[in-house]
Amino acid sequence: MAEGCIFCRIARGEIPATIVAESASSIAFRDIGAQAPTHILVIPRAHVASLNQLDDAILLADMFSLVRRVVGAERIADSGYRVVVNTNADGGQSVHHLHLHVLGGRALSWPPG
Ligand code: AMP
Repeated sequence: MAEGCIFCRIARGEIPATIVAESASSIAFRDIGAQAPTHILVIPRAHVASLNQLDDAILLADMFSLVRRVVGAERIADSGYRVVVNTNADGGQSVHHLHLHVLGGRALSWPPG
């Protein structure tokens, strides 16, 4: 846990979020600033600041397993989706608790800005 981390607080149930799926070690909830019809964040329950600090392959697999569950439930697996991990300043990371953005429900442009 990191003091004041908003995603740690969501993981502990201290602030509300629209949780759509959970596992023992990860949580998926809707992004409050949705950039697509489906915009869900998958986070580890434990505080990991960014992808640079993730050295637990089992946790990584668990997070992607949750992505697979979410895209199935959202019915975007076949139409397509994007998984984004913004990391540090140049990556545009604003919340320093690792999260996978799962975006879908519309055609997404490439390259990103
Ligand atoms: P990033 O810029 O990659 O760090 O993404 C952080 C994301 O967290 C943004 O898309 C925000 O809209 C989202 N976000 C911030 N606070 C909350 C919250 N309380 N509940 C849901 N999503 C949030």
